[in-house]
Amino acid sequence: MSDVWKIYGIRYTTQPSRPAHRTFLFGEPDEETGGLDYYSWVLVSDNRAIVVDTGAAEQKMKALGRDWFGTPSAALKHLGVDPDHVEDLIISHAHWDHVGDLGAFPKAQFYMNDLEMESITGPDMSYKVMREAYHMNEAQEIAGLVYEDRLTFLQGDGTFAPGVDYTLIGGHSAGQLALTVSTERGPVVLATDAIHFWQEVEQERAFLIFHDLRQMLAGYRKMYAMVGGDLGRLIPGHDPLIAKRYPVVETLPDGSPFILDLGAAPIAW
Ligand SMILES: [Zn+2]
Repeated sequence: MSDVWKIYGIRYTTQPSRPAHRTFLFGEPDEETGGLDYYSWVLVSDNRAIVVDTGAAEQKMKALGRDWFGTPSAALKHLGVDPDHVEDLIISHAHWDHVGDLGAFPKAQFYMNDLEMESITGPDMSYKVMREAYHMNEAQEIAGLVYEDRLTFLQGDGTFAPGVDYTLIGGHSAGQLALTVSTERGPVVLATDAIHFWQEVEQERAFLIFHDLRQMLAGYRKMYAMVGGDLGRLIPGHDPLIAKRYPVVETLPDGSPFILDLGAAPIAW
């Protein structure tokens, strides 16, 4: 079995503008971050596809007034992947913008860190501010997968498949994972939301939503070390610069980026 993977990011919606005080701890209202892009990911090898997060439920994003570029599960067809046949789906963490379409993968086994489940079903969620980024229907759906033998808990760090390792980062959410993926250019760390913007690592700038601030900051340093300081090998979860720095493999009708090749070397920095 090949242990070299492609990493594709499906940019399914965007918030075109977002001030720093809504984004970073101690951010200023007059600083613009450049917006927030939203992604679902898929790892593809010669004979296997592993989906990482599904993106949000379409109607929830539309209710926020956001443009919807395309449902990630449907966009997989551009990559030769049929959601009906996907067998592995890793949930990096259970925030609503990552788990809104689990039902589109009827044959999948789901994988999530055990601390994330403990958090979304336990005392953490008795604090309104801590459940802000989770939605009840999705937490119930994930708990239901346990009863159907469709959720496997990933504990700590380990190897998911040859060439795909997972690391418990925590911080942003209790069970936030990062994935280290073997690609043609060597290992690439798909941070998902362990990092939202590169500047969090470059400037140790704290994202505004977190479960444990100290752990989130330690995670930034840990992932920086994991890539040997090469930020081109560290893929954040929401940075609008991603779509400028990596090759586009599928565009929207207006020419803007829809699917990006994140396993490839950056084309600009
Ligand atoms: Zn997110």
